[in-house]
Amino acid sequence: MGRITIAIDGHSSTGKSTVARELAKALDYIYVDSGAMYRAVTLYALRNGFVDQANGGVNKEALISSLPDIELVFEKNGQNGKAEICLNGENVEKAIRTMEVSGLVSAVAAMPEVRKKLVEQQRLIGKDKGVVMDGRDIGTVVFPDAELKLFMTASSRIRATRRYKELLERGEDISFEEVLHNVESRDHADSTRKDSPLVMAEDAVEIDNSDMGEAEQFERILSHAKDLIAKGSAG
Ligand code: C5P
Repeated sequence: MGRITIAIDGHSSTGKSTVARELAKALDYIYVDSGAMYRAVTLYALRNGFVDQANGGVNKEALISSLPDIELVFEKNGQNGKAEICLNGENVEKAIRTMEVSGLVSAVAAMPEVRKKLVEQQRLIGKDKGVVMDGRDIGTVVFPDAELKLFMTASSRIRATRRYKELLERGEDISFEEVLHNVESRDHADSTRKDSPLVMAEDAVEIDNSDMGEAEQFERILSHAKDLIAKGSAG
């Protein structure tokens, strides 16, 4: 059976990673969370003092000259089979999910030098197809020839509610308004940046899951993917 490339883009907290992970599992494909890579670079910048805490700005020159020192690798968690991101040998899967990182990641992701490095690595990981990658520019920039492109969205209140629950469960001390603000400001920054802005690819399937159950959504996507794979094999 031929293997395809599946690109999942969309707004923050639309459940992209859940769909991508389940799809990869069902098809026995590799799952790559490209957002984790941008988050890990952001964590590196924070830890190395490349962030001016007073105005939240990133010291771009310092980060750019350190890019060669940043090594990102995905390793499989032996217990749940999840691919987790390692920054210079340290598993940072949890450390990259804080509000501190979320508040800064869009500024780091707007830097063309950062994008160039990460996109190169993403293309290398996906060169043999059989990959599901989620992010913001996967169907437009990273894999413009992907056979299946999904663009996921939902209202910002619904997305912030989902995110808020997740953060509370993780023990973060945070208000709903802060989370809503972060979701909306990341959407804005991601959609208006010059390099690889978040836009829906012309040939993407748009999925608004504001009122859709997870199981229903997943079944629809999986059957669409299987149709495409079968078609590819027949042709
Ligand atoms: O997917 P996640 O919400 O974890 O991504 C965090 C941030 O990383 C996004 O808000 C965006 O700024 C950036 N990102 C990106 N391109 C991608 C994936 C993520 O710019 N392909």
